[in-house]
Amino acid sequence: RPAFSDAPDLAHKATRPVVQGGMQWVGLPRLVAAVSNGGGLGIITALSQPSPAALRQAIKETRTLTDKPFGVNITLLPTINPPDYEGYARVAVEEGVRIFETAGNNPGPLIKFFKSQNCLVIHKCTTIRHAKSAEKLGVDVISIDGFECAGHPGEDDIGGLVLLARAADELKIPYIASGGIANGRGLASALAAGAAGVNMGTRFMCTVESAIHDNIKQKIVDSTERDTIHIFRTMRNTARVFKNKVALEVVALEARPGGAKFEDVQHLVSGQRGKLVYEKGDSDYGIWTAGITVGLINDIPTCKDLLERMEREAEDIIGQMNNMVVTKARL
Ligand code: NAD
Repeated sequence: RPAFSDAPDLAHKATRPVVQGGMQWVGLPRLVAAVSNGGGLGIITALSQPSPAALRQAIKETRTLTDKPFGVNITLLPTINPPDYEGYARVAVEEGVRIFETAGNNPGPLIKFFKSQNCLVIHKCTTIRHAKSAEKLGVDVISIDGFECAGHPGEDDIGGLVLLARAADELKIPYIASGGIANGRGLASALAAGAAGVNMGTRFMCTVESAIHDNIKQKIVDSTERDTIHIFRTMRNTARVFKNKVALEVVALEARPGGAKFEDVQHLVSGQRGKLVYEKGDSDYGIWTAGITVGLINDIPTCKDLLERMEREAEDIIGQMNNMVVTKARL
């Protein structure tokens, strides 16, 4: 199996096998540049910009903050207002971006466009059947997203360990592990499971360079792995979010006799309202996305310190495992 370092382009682009995946309202230039400067791969979230023209500016701004490569995420999921996906994609390619993270439903046309432009595509999948379809479409790297993940885990509820083991059996192209990873132990586990690297979201929300309000970073530090909940289960658009008052209200509406239509919860779940959580620092104001790694996050480091620490921890663990194997062989 080709390693992360063999994936075309990605090798010399990221020196540490850690990708900062797309995060609505969080994947902004300062964070993206800090991850890439720290040796990982930063990714701008296209839909966090109000228009393709604003994405162009965000790409230019990121270039002033780093001379390292970075990518752009485009996620295709239900939205309240239909985004100009093609416009975002075209602008990013025009600006010279050559790495894309795609996610969501019916990504075929977008993937074909990026491949026709000689771009590297990392496609996020929550099932092996989707990963195999993406492989056929010509993507370069699969991001295997386990049920632990923040945001949309799909509807099959398969945890990362089983998905990664299945990926090892089924995929020919490199894959990275996403969902449930926040430290060197997670990185070492992912590598042991055959992944070429990892993708993290929630862990990067809680860094110095992340633009979200300090109250929300502190909330993540203070939380445990029991502090997230799934909304939209009944609408087959399941999303793991922070378990706050608004999320509990949405789940209660979905659970009432007769259930809820999207229109019944739209005022509670809108992304524009969730954005204000990050701006104002009131963690109960709206829906905000978080993975169960909130239970593993205990500090607010710089991206560089985080990436260095993860690498050190992973190397220590792999070294200890190697010693165990050697000692056993001697007995
Ligand atoms: P939004 O305000 O349009 O919608 C808010 C939430 O409602 C989203 O989770 C969306 O998927 C969901 N939704 C919208 N219409 C729906 C419908 N008819 N039925 C069921 N669910 C519906 O979303 P936003 O916050 O502006 O985000 C824009 C898009 O980016 C959404 O599709 C969202 O899911 C997606 N997203 C991307 C990332 C990422 O990592 N790139 C992270 C979170 C969300």
